[in-house]
Amino acid sequence: MTNADRITPLFLLKSLLNLGITPATGLWLAGKIRLLNAMCIANSLLVLSMVGLDLAVSEHHDLSLVAGAIGLVMMLPCYLNYRGQHIAARIVFLSVAYISICALAIVFGERFQFQYYLIPGVGMSLIFFRDEIGWGKWAFTLVGVPLWLFLELWFDAHAPILAIEGDYPDIIAYFSGVLIFLTTIIMYATFTREADRHLEGIHAVNRQLKDMALKDALTGLFNRRYISDELKKCVQLAADKGQFLALAMFDMDHFKRINDTHGHDAGDKVLQAVARLAQQNLRESDQVGRIGGEEFCIIFTQGKHDSIQQAVERLRSAISGHTITYAGETIHLSASFGIAYAPDAKKTGAKRTDAEGYVSAGMLFKQADAALYQAKSEGRNRVVTYTGDHENNLNKTGLPAE
Ligand code: GH3
Ligand code: MG
Ligand code: MG
Repeated sequence: MTNADRITPLFLLKSLLNLGITPATGLWLAGKIRLLNAMCIANSLLVLSMVGLDLAVSEHHDLSLVAGAIGLVMMLPCYLNYRGQHIAARIVFLSVAYISICALAIVFGERFQFQYYLIPGVGMSLIFFRDEIGWGKWAFTLVGVPLWLFLELWFDAHAPILAIEGDYPDIIAYFSGVLIFLTTIIMYATFTREADRHLEGIHAVNRQLKDMALKDALTGLFNRRYISDELKKCVQLAADKGQFLALAMFDMDHFKRINDTHGHDAGDKVLQAVARLAQQNLRESDQVGRIGGEEFCIIFTQGKHDSIQQAVERLRSAISGHTITYAGETIHLSASFGIAYAPDAKKTGAKRTDAEGYVSAGMLFKQADAALYQAKSEGRNRVVTYTGDHENNLNKTGLPAE
């Protein structure tokens, strides 16, 4: 701290106004935080000065105690701003303001013109909340408030006219009531709308991040990490609860040739088409992922041996019947499949187990890959199921390290 910004009243006031604003706070938010702090400080000072006055002139101080407590509670939004809880700060401010207005109205009777209390708030809202209020409400407030003030002053100055038409205080009370309701609604709508937008933004970013973390960018299928994590969970469920589990792995046949002949872009188009075919030919509960360049995985948690066999065969046939036209040339596709089933935990004599007495996710990957390897060596474009006779393949293949 330099000599210039010693702790002076002005420095204190500035610090209070800027409570909750950090170098990272955007200009927009900073303006609103400052506005709220200013309103809280002004309200609090007002109430506390009333307490002072009351203590000086009155002999009974019950009301002072209550007002003193309210004055302190009015600083709560500043504290919430300081903690970075800006939306909570505004909600507390509005609630306290609303409750204290009602209390003042009760104390001072129905003639209490508490609409003036809201005018600084509305005025400042016009400056700070234009975007969030929206043009319609902004223009309404901009025109409505001065018009109302003008009418009130005009009626006041022309009371005789009103005396003919009706009861002046009733008309004023009516306009005051309308204004207070409208401003309260506008301010609540403003704050909640902003809170909603804030939350919406957070949810949208969360969804995006989740998608980026779980999905493969080229095909939109699950990525390797997701499939790997999911398989571990499924293995656990299969072991603990006896849930069905099968893993199919497939790899495009002669994909290098497609890339070499038609180019990498054509290869990418093929991968996207295969992803679509997989989604079209499998059920919602089957989870498909791309775990490598042109290698895919499907986790089945529902079905029986027969139905899985049929589903995989249907996908194989859909891929091999599919052609892609790229730059005027036709590309024929096919893929080879390997399937491995987790043993039924309820039956004894599991086929292949890990140290804990049940198959592991890594082992299941290796088994499906071994079956796939066999499908390749037997001529491609076919489905092979792991039966336990693939001992030699198990050591050569398996899911490559991440
Ligand atoms: P096989 O029938 O034995 O599987 O033969 P293959 O040519 O498909 O097998 P190989 O593993 O030799 O070739 C895979 C090729 O996939 C090599 C690589 O250039 C290509 N590839 C890997 N990732 C991508 C990708 O994201 N896009 C494209 N277009 N090609 C890819
Ligand atoms: Mg291949
Ligand atoms: Mg491959």
